[in-house]
Amino acid sequence: MIEHDVVIVGGGLAGSRAAVEIARTDPSLSIAVIAKTHPIRSHSVAAQGGMAATLRNVDEADSWEAHAFDTVKGSDYLADQDAVEILTREAPEVVIDLEHMGVLFSRLPDGRIAQRAFGGHSHKRTCYAADKTGHAILHELVNNLRRYGVAIYDEWYVMRLILESGQAKGLVMFRIRDGQMQVVRAKAVMFATGGYGRVFNTTSNDYASTGDGLAMTAAAGLPLEDMEFVQFHPTGLYPAGVLISEAVRGEGAYLINSDGERFMERYAPSRMELAPRDITSRAIACELRGGRGVHLDGRAGGPFVHLDVRHLGRETIMSRIPFAWEESHRLAGVDAVVEPIPVRPTIHYSMGGIPVNTEGQVRSSPTGLVEGFFAAGETACVSVHGANRLGSNSLLECVVYGRRTGAAIAEYVQKRVMPDLDESYYLTQAQQQVQALIDQSGVHRIAQVRQEFQDCMTEYCGVFRSQALMQQGLDNLRRLRQKAEQVYLDDKGKLFNTELIEALELQSLMLVGEIILTGALNRQESRGAHSREDFTERDDANFLKHTLAYYSPAGIEVSYMPVVINRFEPQERKY
Ligand SMILES: Cc1cc2nc3c(=O)[nH]c(=O)nc-3n(C[C@H](O)[C@H](O)[C@H](O)COP(=O)(O)OP(=O)(O)OC[C@H]3O[C@@H](n4cnc5c(N)ncnc54)[C@H](O)[C@@H]3O)c2cc1C
Repeated sequence: MIEHDVVIVGGGLAGSRAAVEIARTDPSLSIAVIAKTHPIRSHSVAAQGGMAATLRNVDEADSWEAHAFDTVKGSDYLADQDAVEILTREAPEVVIDLEHMGVLFSRLPDGRIAQRAFGGHSHKRTCYAADKTGHAILHELVNNLRRYGVAIYDEWYVMRLILESGQAKGLVMFRIRDGQMQVVRAKAVMFATGGYGRVFNTTSNDYASTGDGLAMTAAAGLPLEDMEFVQFHPTGLYPAGVLISEAVRGEGAYLINSDGERFMERYAPSRMELAPRDITSRAIACELRGGRGVHLDGRAGGPFVHLDVRHLGRETIMSRIPFAWEESHRLAGVDAVVEPIPVRPTIHYSMGGIPVNTEGQVRSSPTGLVEGFFAAGETACVSVHGANRLGSNSLLECVVYGRRTGAAIAEYVQKRVMPDLDESYYLTQAQQQVQALIDQSGVHRIAQVRQEFQDCMTEYCGVFRSQALMQQGLDNLRRLRQKAEQVYLDDKGKLFNTELIEALELQSLMLVGEIILTGALNRQESRGAHSREDFTERDDANFLKHTLAYYSPAGIEVSYMPVVINRFEPQERKY
């Protein structure tokens, strides 16, 4: 059996930042980072636009309080305000620390870190490295993992969290290269497994964003929080769905419909294209529904709107948003210097996740904590984003809460003995589970069931939702779950069996999808990204509370948890 003081699942920004903090705090601890990709291929590497922090390099009137207010307002008042205060107060410090690690941020002419505008932020506070910010940060963090001697298990797939009587003890994983299975035990287990964009059919996320950490946590009987809040990014490139960064609008791009109108004027006159994402995505969806989308041949009534940067000029485009130009050119054949970019909303981010306190320790209930289990980053819900995340607050969350969780773990493991567990029991169970999948004499292909499932989630739990739609979605989903039990695998071998991984990931996706739909059906109001046609108003009297959804094979139970409101009283959210 493999043993480490700490095992972290996920080598993205949250997992890597936590590992660095643990190593810095107590160099004698044995730390492992496990990832099903290479850490450098974690989705964090694709982050583009930047990371918010009130450095006040460009806008001296900015303050952490203003950042906190923007975040809470952006969240439609569902964020926990104690967690937001930590996020925004610690932001400048973590950016400077990254700079000291060697991250090459873009600069002002006087050499200080440059900052740009971003949706929902009232000041220019987003620090960036052109439009490749995630790449710049993750490379330095992963270099630091090596420098601190962190053990890296890359291309190992974690398939189970070991939880016994309310205590996390370790996990089960297998090496993708040869199928070798291992039980790992540890004094602390941390999940930093990222998002679940692949639950839907059009997403900006990478292929690995399948919500495995969420599914393993739910399958162990622990709750997931606020999963109904799914972020649509307004500007996915049509038709690929990949992201055209919000930095493009931060630099001044216009959104234009088939009438040539800057339609945001009708939806958010004070912020225009820099309104928060939920509002901008709904505005685009309304334009498309109203027949004011564009077709590829220029006719009205099509499936996308235009994102126009032509007025910015070649030099700004090539120096500030070169990646957006390159993506449009490579994937849509558009030269953004002379043509508008076709865009429409794409699934982007998970506001909900594994409930944690502000030290990153996982909650078992509104008041209980799980021993030995921590989480941070997109997979966690400390609730700084509530019902809608502001752009450039997620990289920030990964680094602030990655660091805090790392510090908390370094202290926590000092008092904890290595847990006992029955290795052969867990090995046998995992081997049987994998063998059963391989031996299954099914009739359906994985890709076909996955596509039907993704289409179902997109159609019945998309930008606009209603009781009838979602009930239909849940019924379809139950039927698809039966179908998923009859998939067959062509590859029966152990070497790089990617089909086996797809089968396991399909199970994660479906479990997560059912929890999203159930939470959404139960929340009878519209708040942030959750927009219902049958309950069009926010309902603070009944729903100013966090959802906790508990999964069991018999069904999903939903209960609620209070929101921490200690600074900003809820107001009507207008821009
Ligand atoms: C295209 C794009 C652009 C973005 N731009 C920005 C931006 O400009 N600013 C901003 O603030 N946010 C941005 N975001 C959001 C932000 O990048 C992510 O929320 C954040 O990087 C998530 O980091 P993470 O560490 O939580 O997870 P990830 O970086 O997604 O890493 C997850 C890790 O978990 C591992 N893993 C998952 N499941 C398993 C398993 N079963 N076994 C083993 N390992 C597993 C993966 O291999 C990976 O290493 C963007 C997101 C996208 C998709």
